Amino acid sequence: MRIFDPHIHMSARTTDDYVAMYESGVRAVVEPSFWLGQPRTNVGSFVDYFDALIGWERFRAAQYGIRHHCTIGLNPKEANDPRCREVLAVLPRYLAKDGVVAVGELGYDSMTPEEDEVFVAQLALARDFGLPAVVHTPHRDKAAGTTRTLEVVRDSGIGPERVVVDHLNETTVVEVAASGCWMGFSIYPDTKMDERRMVAILREYGTDRMLVNSAADWGQSDPLKTRKTGQAMLDAGFTEHDVDVVLWQNPVAFYGQSGRLHLDPVPGFVGREPLAPATFEGNSVLRGARV
Ligand SMILES: [Zn+2]
Repeated sequence: MRIFDPHIHMSARTTDDYVAMYESGVRAVVEPSFWLGQPRTNVGSFVDYFDALIGWERFRAAQYGIRHHCTIGLNPKEANDPRCREVLAVLPRYLAKDGVVAVGELGYDSMTPEEDEVFVAQLALARDFGLPAVVHTPHRDKAAGTTRTLEVVRDSGIGPERVVVDHLNETTVVEVAASGCWMGFSIYPDTKMDERRMVAILREYGTDRMLVNSAADWGQSDPLKTRKTGQAMLDAGFTEHDVDVVLWQNPVAFYGQSGRLHLDPVPGFVGREPLAPATFEGNSVLRGARV
């Protein structure tokens, strides 16, 4: 089973996770930029984080045979903090970089006017840079948040085929399916959405425009949930081809719209052994060199 996890926060995970993910079939990931739990107090904090996503994290993943890509954006929670607003001015610099395959995570947290403004501005950036957008739906007030999200996407002029609306459930999927946007599902170890419910949704809606992710971060989460969902699909009678569509071909098609996916196997990578001595010396090492 080959797996592309389209939404996982690897910076919050250990190297053991990369090893276990590789063994489970994960060969590519996208790490959306998000908040850190601790509020950032200035734009420099974002710059260092973005540099870590395009530099260090990509390098670390490659050492374990996994192709790492990221999305860059001002997340909805911090959109409300005036100290973080300046980051909008540095986004264009990052959106031009190799390895950045979408704008995100965008969307709503508490649906404030500040979040509206930042959401609209970043959808415009996605349009200008020809990049897809990863849009998160709020955990509270999810139904209203999803409706409002789809209205903003529609008004922005970005094509729905370039937008994934993420963290959906049985209720919110209906509207997103009708909108033409891609449908993202995060499979958690607790009750929000599990493998069994995911399989039922795939039965009802089919595999078209469906993305399944682990959304693993520093919270209670499991980076192998993609693999476990693939297994649950097989157990329920889906074919290996169906599993490949959901866990590989769909994320490739969605993020491939950026023209920046690197999916060739990591050179020299064998089994669980890390690559022969390699040193990370900052982003300059990675510039031009596809690690
Ligand atoms: Zn996330």
